[in-house]
Amino acid sequence: MQNSNFAEGAQLPAAGWKTRVQMEADERRTLAPFAQKSGDSRGRHFPEQQHAYRTEFQRDRARIIHSRAFRRLEYKTQVFLNGTADHLRTRLTHTCEVASVSRTLARALALNEDLAEAIALGHDLGHAPFGHSGEEMLAECMREHGGFEHNRQSLRVVELLEAPYPAFPGLNLTFEVLEGLRKHDKNASPSLEAQIADVADEITYYSHDLDDALDFAILDSDQLDESAIWQRSHQRVAARNPDLLGTELHKNIIRDIIDLQVRDVVAASAASIAAAALESAEKVRQQREPLICYSPEHDAANRELRRFLYENVYYHPRVAEVNRRACEMLRAVFVAFVEEPERLGDAAARRIESEGLHRTVCDYIAGMTDRYLLEEHARLAH
Ligand code: MG
Repeated sequence: MQNSNFAEGAQLPAAGWKTRVQMEADERRTLAPFAQKSGDSRGRHFPEQQHAYRTEFQRDRARIIHSRAFRRLEYKTQVFLNGTADHLRTRLTHTCEVASVSRTLARALALNEDLAEAIALGHDLGHAPFGHSGEEMLAECMREHGGFEHNRQSLRVVELLEAPYPAFPGLNLTFEVLEGLRKHDKNASPSLEAQIADVADEITYYSHDLDDALDFAILDSDQLDESAIWQRSHQRVAARNPDLLGTELHKNIIRDIIDLQVRDVVAASAASIAAAALESAEKVRQQREPLICYSPEHDAANRELRRFLYENVYYHPRVAEVNRRACEMLRAVFVAFVEEPERLGDAAARRIESEGLHRTVCDYIAGMTDRYLLEEHARLAH
């Protein structure tokens, strides 16, 4: 990469500023040998000057936060249709929780917090409106045209669809952040920071889907005591605070669940990393199995919780029926855009030649918020 005087920080006052070079030196001094150092990044597809006082991963984090796709996460469904109740999770608040847990895990394991956070913030950028039901419907619409999958779409968003720079398409993120978003690539282990974002995603949605399902009154405490994870935290909280009831009790159980999961991942991952005797971040990429992991006991309990959530929450009639109707609207909008491409925005219409009509419509719809899709559907009648 090129360096200029400004990029090297030479124009900055000697005192009172911390330069990127100093931050990179701090990473080498304070992070584990197997952490991904920003100074060792494989770089960006389109070479850019380095920044005076931000590391490469800090820049990537900012690029993601400042993207349009990131802002739209606010109005996209996580599980409960966006707008159902103001305090239920949206795709954006879910993303913030994943970033928070990722930072905790990365810091505790002496890994690169900036990298883990950037990957966490970008991990759901490719989600369609209406959550997983929307994704399934879009995949069906695209069955003959290359399919649709939200992880692949997250990459399309950051490599093509976001276009804030005149010199290149996409956000031109570093290899390491892209590696973390490329979840369907099963051939190689990504960095430990990417593995952290993955596990943090799971920890947050297990707990917040339980929390929201209670809030939305589709689960009750008796049902929840069927889940070993819930039962264990219930007992722990009741032992500490025997007088807690209702929402107060539930909130504290959820807190305890997250805390136990995070503690378990820190301990189990520290042990598996030690056993692998890694001396560099590159050695991580040669591992066959992920090293960021739960203990076997937690792993089994989580699989049971996952089954519980599928049986009792994700396909509950009050969730599934609303999502089904929303998805029928998604299909209608998809068909209308394919039949009348002039409905597309200018930037999307320009992509038809290179990407094909169906992929362009798919990208356009995947980028929509729930409410924008509902508005588009309402416009179809006119
Ligand atoms: Mg997620």
